[in-house]
Amino acid sequence: MDDETADPRPGTVYLVGSGPGDPDLLTVKAKRLLETADVVLHDKLPGPEIIETLPEDRREDVGKRAGGERTPQSEINERLVELAREGKSVVRLKGGDSFVFGRGGEEAEYLAAREVPFEVVPAVTSAIAAPAVAGIPVTHRDHASSVSFVTGHEDPTKEESAVDWEALAATGGTIVVLMGVGRLPDYTEALLEAGMAPETPVALVERGTWPGQQVATSTLETIVDARDEEGIEPPAVTVIGEVAGTRERVLEFLANESDRATERAEPTASDEV
Ligand code: SAH
Repeated sequence: MDDETADPRPGTVYLVGSGPGDPDLLTVKAKRLLETADVVLHDKLPGPEIIETLPEDRREDVGKRAGGERTPQSEINERLVELAREGKSVVRLKGGDSFVFGRGGEEAEYLAAREVPFEVVPAVTSAIAAPAVAGIPVTHRDHASSVSFVTGHEDPTKEESAVDWEALAATGGTIVVLMGVGRLPDYTEALLEAGMAPETPVALVERGTWPGQQVATSTLETIVDARDEEGIEPPAVTVIGEVAGTRERVLEFLANESDRATERAEPTASDEV
């Protein structure tokens, strides 16, 4: 363990992933840093259970500014540098893993360019964990030998879309879409047009491991209706591929289905999301 217990070091920024939301899925290192750092900068994605444990005098919510719009990344970057230069030990806490659609890479580059020491603390990403707790393995020897993690935030009909849905449809592997609740109709349509089978299983896992976790399953052709019927809202991951069908075969014996998180929760905690 050498000098690990000497954390947190003054003047250092820790880019820490919180895991998907269940406090038991924080890494030991993340938990220790959250308990001991001088200040924690966070947004809403780590989830109510983790955020509520942070002492109010040592935390800053940098998710949204007054008025509701998202705090610009440049402001967060500057705040990290400012706090570190004051000699503070700073945790930048992100939902899931900071380096998976978490802007952790941008923050690391910004800090390095200003010679601010930082450490990356990897974590359990929701891209794998949310499907897992819903009984869905992202790979499976019989069904999927690759998995792609993609953003659903973009408009697939845009010429300059950075996600090549046609190519993804051709891989035959699992596709896990993050930030993809709103544009679900657009990219499922793009995949159908690219020749993916309409009966391909699809699952939506909302607030995986949080109190109020919700899952909707259907097919590529009908998942939009299922989303609307079940009232699935962000944050949720979309799992597209044969592996999504595994859920039906394990569900009866899946003990970590939503109830566990819901049992932990205060009766009203799920309303605060
Ligand atoms: N860095 C995060 C991803 C950030 S992008 C990670 O590694 O998990 C934000 C997206 O993450 C959300 O739109 C949603 O798609 C997904 N997400 C994060 N936490 C989630 C959770 N508990 N359940 C389901 N999806 C989640």
